Amino acid sequence: MSPLLEVSDAVRAEIGDEEADRLLAGENAPGSYDCTSCRTPGHTEQERTSTVLFVGEETAVLAFAHATCIPSQVVSVSEEQLKGAVRSLSGESEFARQPSAPPQPTSAEPGREAAVLGVTCGQILIGEELYPAIVVEPTGPIARPGSTGPGDEFLPLLVEAGFQRVADVSLAPSPLPGWSVLLAMGQLHAVLQGDPAGGRPSAWWQAHQPLAVTDGWRASANQHHTVFVYAAPAGVIGQQPREDLLREALEKAAVNGLLVAAAMPLAGT
Ligand SMILES: [Zn+2]
Repeated sequence: MSPLLEVSDAVRAEIGDEEADRLLAGENAPGSYDCTSCRTPGHTEQERTSTVLFVGEETAVLAFAHATCIPSQVVSVSEEQLKGAVRSLSGESEFARQPSAPPQPTSAEPGREAAVLGVTCGQILIGEELYPAIVVEPTGPIARPGSTGPGDEFLPLLVEAGFQRVADVSLAPSPLPGWSVLLAMGQLHAVLQGDPAGGRPSAWWQAHQPLAVTDGWRASANQHHTVFVYAAPAGVIGQQPREDLLREALEKAAVNGLLVAAAMPLAGT
C-alpha cells in the first residue's frame, strides 16, 4: 500500500523530484513514526502524514508529522539544532544539502555586547482554560538597530512589530499575523517572524538548545494550536520557578505597563 504522504512543493524543491517520488511510492516512507509536532505515534499507511524538512546550513533532515498537526513544509534551523534533531528523531533520513546557496556574509557585531533573549514556558489560565504561554525577557537592554544609545527599546520595538500592551493578564492576547511558534520534535525551537515579502519566515528568537516543554504545555499547544507569547524588558519578570509565581510577575509587569503580548499559531498551522 502506498503511504498517505504529503510532500509540499517547497519540500520537493529541496529534496528533488526523484527523492520525492520515491517517498510517495512508499520506497522510503518510514511506516510508523513519532509526529515531529505532537510527538505521539503516527503511521504513514494509516493516516495522512506531512513530510517536514528541517534545513540547516549544510544538512537537512526529513521528519514526519500528522497532517492534522502541521502541513508539509520546510523549516530553517541552525546546524546545531539539526544535529540535536537527528539524534532525537526516529524514522528520519538525512540529505546532503545542495550547495546552491552561497554562504551568507556575517554582519559585523555592534560594539555593545548583545543581550540574549531568555524564554520561560508556562501555562496560563484565561477564563476557564489553560493556554500554553512563553515569556520572553532579554538579559539586558535592547537597543534599536543602528543606535548606540543606552535606552531599552525592547517594548517599543515589539509594539511596532504588532505586539499589544497587556493591561489585564486575564484577557487573551490578540493574534499577530505572520508570526508563529515552532514546536518540533516535541520541543520549543523558535519564534518565527513572517516575511512581509512572502518569503520563508525567519527566526525572531531561536533556541540554542531546543527547549523542553512539559507534557501539559505540549498537549495544550496542540489542542489550541496557539501559544501566547509575552515579553517584558530585562529584569521585570526574572526566573520564576512556579506557574503561579510567573503569573504574579506577569500581573505586576502589566500593572506597571511593562508587558506586551501576542497570540501566535504553531508554525505551519
Ligand atoms: Zn501530531
